[in-house]
Amino acid sequence: DELVSQIAAGEVVERPASVVRELVDNALDAGAAQVTVRLLAGGVRLISVEDDGDGIAREELPLALRRHATSKIASLADLESVATMGFRGEALAAIASVSEMSLLSRSEGQASAFLLDARSGELRPAARGTGTTVEVKELFFSTPARRKFLKTDATELAHCVESVRRHALARPDVGFAIWHEGRLVEQWRAQPLAGGDALARRLADVLGEEFIAQSVPLRHSAGPVTVTGRVGIPDAARARADWQFCYVNGRYVRDRVLTHAARSAYEDVLHGQRQPVYALYVDIDPARVDVNVHPTKIEVRFRDSREVHQAVRHAVENALAAPRA
Ligand code: ADP
Ligand code: MG
Repeated sequence: DELVSQIAAGEVVERPASVVRELVDNALDAGAAQVTVRLLAGGVRLISVEDDGDGIAREELPLALRRHATSKIASLADLESVATMGFRGEALAAIASVSEMSLLSRSEGQASAFLLDARSGELRPAARGTGTTVEVKELFFSTPARRKFLKTDATELAHCVESVRRHALARPDVGFAIWHEGRLVEQWRAQPLAGGDALARRLADVLGEEFIAQSVPLRHSAGPVTVTGRVGIPDAARARADWQFCYVNGRYVRDRVLTHAARSAYEDVLHGQRQPVYALYVDIDPARVDVNVHPTKIEVRFRDSREVHQAVRHAVENALAAPRA
């Protein structure tokens, strides 16, 4: 089983940023309002993700590390839905097979927290408020061939930050902090959803105030597809090529249908004069999208990619062409 997990790890865990992605996924699934990520040596020596979510009950802790143990599929029909970010129950087992992992958690109403050491299986009482801290140390220590492929600490850190940034743009209502070697690298405060445009405020925090001044909101519905978000307007001269964030049903994706649709709209309206910059959120009937094409869940396949392409293209075109104040 250890070997199977290590093979699974090969698909799921490429570098520290992949671990960060899975742990932050879990924190958000647990209903966290605040997620704190602490890293040493770009995440290679330590990745710690702390949340204030529901926590894991004492008797559930060992189960969390077992392959295909997930608390998130109530029925087979649920497989069709993408209500939660993760749903395959493999991430923790895979990560534990290529690192030294511990889970510290306290669930609501429990008198104390418990600490589980993945390697030894030792479980003992510990101190902590409600929520979970997962620590991952010495990533790939037992697989030196994998460790050799890691880049410099600075590069791995940048990937980790990018991974959290992708979550942060999906969940403006959750606060995020990233520490590296004891130094605060990024902090994005929770933006109450009730208080107006939480997304715009989160985008300003993450991408910079200029982005808000130089972008327009969009909203467009066509049948089962709804597209919302913001697109950068032409004088966003400081545009960065990697500021193209796409989400499908709340999940960050890289998808050529979406990027092509957005690029076509920029071509049509602005004749390719500027770098497209955007955060696009596609909400679609879960039955019309397959999220299981890739273990990291970063790729999707639409049942009808034309309907999605058209919806995104129209949404972006309308927003770019609208007269500005
Ligand atoms: P999945 O997220 O696909 O269910 P994982 O391997 O990522 O699988 O996690 C296994 C299980 O551990 C989850 O189903 C959940 O019950 C529990 N778990 C993991 N991380 C957390 C967390 N931060 N808070 C609460 N429960 C967690
Ligand atoms: Mg998970």
